[in-house]
Amino acid sequence: MAVLTLKNWLKELAGEKPLIIAGPCSAETEEQVLTTAIGVKEAGAHILRAGIWKPRTRPGNFEGVGAIGLEWLKKAKEKTGLLTTVEVANPIHVELALKNDVDILWIGARTSVNPFAIQEIADALKGVDKIVLVKNPVNPDLALWIGALERINKAGIDKLGAIHRGFSSFKKMKYRNEPLWQIPIDLKTQFPDLPLINDPSHITGKRDMVFDVSQTAIQLKFDGLMIETHINPEKAWSDAAQQITPATLRNIVNRLEIPKDRAYDPDLLKSLRDLRDEIDALDKELVEILFQREEKTREIAGLKWKENISIYQKERWLDILQKARKNALEKGIELKFIEQLYRILHQESLKIQHHVFKEENSRKR
Ligand code: PEP
Ligand code: MN
Repeated sequence: MAVLTLKNWLKELAGEKPLIIAGPCSAETEEQVLTTAIGVKEAGAHILRAGIWKPRTRPGNFEGVGAIGLEWLKKAKEKTGLLTTVEVANPIHVELALKNDVDILWIGARTSVNPFAIQEIADALKGVDKIVLVKNPVNPDLALWIGALERINKAGIDKLGAIHRGFSSFKKMKYRNEPLWQIPIDLKTQFPDLPLINDPSHITGKRDMVFDVSQTAIQLKFDGLMIETHINPEKAWSDAAQQITPATLRNIVNRLEIPKDRAYDPDLLKSLRDLRDEIDALDKELVEILFQREEKTREIAGLKWKENISIYQKERWLDILQKARKNALEKGIELKFIEQLYRILHQESLKIQHHVFKEENSRKR
């Protein structure tokens, strides 16, 4: 079981409110960095972000202004009092960021996927007292994310945080990166003291969805948001479609509904308790139904085995799926959810049938 030695740095910066990190995807010009910094400060941000070295999917795109951008960030800090953060992907970036007084370093999704790269960064951070934020790896692998955090922590960095920026997927979907909320929730459950920040910009890839994902994250008790903000988003040199203006940022920060940790009103508490009891009873029934379904699956497998019929029956699977869709539609349950659920059920059913075949075969021998 992984253990992280953590020091609380969050409250000092943001108090009880969500921590807001904002700024352009990339630093482009001194003017752009300074104007954006003033705008995000007015919007309520605590930290100014800007990419200096940009990991681009294809070569030939803008790859960042490089170390000169660090000078602009220094000026922006002097002007606004905002702390600054940049992405570091190797020991040279770390050295340059430290030399130029960057306050917080973040590790990008394409770096946290690689333990060699993370270890090199961790080694470069030995003896350094900075806040380090680790984005989730591009693929949905919680252990890899935790491993990256552990490596940085073992180098002596105890002011750590995690940034959830979603996961790349081959599926066609409305988001640029699939949120898979259960993964950051599992991380938070395992490390309650690790600040968890959501990056709605890289999850959505589209500015008009940034508010909704931000609100979802805050509802899920994330500790903060990292939101790409640009004075002229349409003209941004990278990630133009997802960046918002400082005015929109201000609007988002003001509109966010921040939930209370728990209920206090006795009537509400009683209603919640009653409803939870009912859910517990339904969950028990659900498991009983699943058990009965598995029993039927085993019986079917026995019959198939006797006649040597293949386990997977395409027509039957399509029939199950179609009936499930119809039932869901009648009840107003989201189709996508039901389809996912039935895929899992079907996968389990195939596994059970394989198991029965194996047992029967070994008995025959
Ligand atoms: C970024 O924050 O601009 C960035 C490159 O993010 P990610 O590592 O999440 O893709
Ligand atoms: Mn970006």
